[in-house]
Amino acid sequence: MLPAEFRNNSASSYCRKSALKRWLSASCLLLVVTVTGCQLLNTSRNLGLPNQIIAERDYLVIHSDFRLPRKHRLFDELERLRDDLYRDLQLPTSDESVQLYLFAEPGDLRRYAGKVVPELRDRRAFFIKTDTRLQVFAHWGDKLAEDLRHETCHAFLHAVVADVPLWLDEGIAEYYEVEEHEQGLNRPHVFLLANAFRKGTWIPNLARLEMLTEPENVTQNDYAESWLWVHFLLQHDEMSRDLLRNSLVDGRFQGSSRSLSKELETKFPDAQLMLVEHLKQLSEGM
Ligand SMILES: [Zn+2]
Repeated sequence: MLPAEFRNNSASSYCRKSALKRWLSASCLLLVVTVTGCQLLNTSRNLGLPNQIIAERDYLVIHSDFRLPRKHRLFDELERLRDDLYRDLQLPTSDESVQLYLFAEPGDLRRYAGKVVPELRDRRAFFIKTDTRLQVFAHWGDKLAEDLRHETCHAFLHAVVADVPLWLDEGIAEYYEVEEHEQGLNRPHVFLLANAFRKGTWIPNLARLEMLTEPENVTQNDYAESWLWVHFLLQHDEMSRDLLRNSLVDGRFQGSSRSLSKELETKFPDAQLMLVEHLKQLSEGM
């Protein structure tokens, strides 16, 4: 049974969902491009890519076009994020470094993106995976910390998992983009989903999320629901954590992940209701 305050909305929510306005996240797009690392390097000067390396951490090479403290606390946080990600998901570590390019001015990032990946020119930050490199691009601004946590999370994940379903990729990134003390709690997503559920404009549907393959088709509700499933799976119990971890093991060794919605039907037949209850508890605790 659904939690009492949500109960009245359940029956008709599926019908109304299609009326939701679709809009893209302002902060995120993951892109796999065919440009090779060498091509990118050879043309970097002409394209305006920051080519001054200001710091080399264990798994992070930071390029910038402005002065920045080599030991900035933000970089410490990104390395801790990497440790948390691999520990929580029981992933092996990787020797591959993430190349992080920081622009002082948003206009410079926009110009660079316009030349290399025009579809990303309006993004504050983005991640690009090429044959040889994992690269994160961002400009210095108020949302930098959140953007970098999100995009470097994609990069760290892709360093060890070849194939990650889009919804899961985004759900994990949305989980780790919040400040460390939040422990994965993405408060804006809780507000968004709890509100949408009460209005009858959203109910969870993981099988639908699994069909998403194009980033431009991912709505803000989809980002939020993807986060909620990841939060639930990671924090419910050991069996749910194992479901998520095993899915990523498939992605590492077989090049494709199994359907988590089908796995959930077996292990947690009431997963949809459990997710709504999970949301309710998070909402009440805020
Ligand atoms: Zn993302």
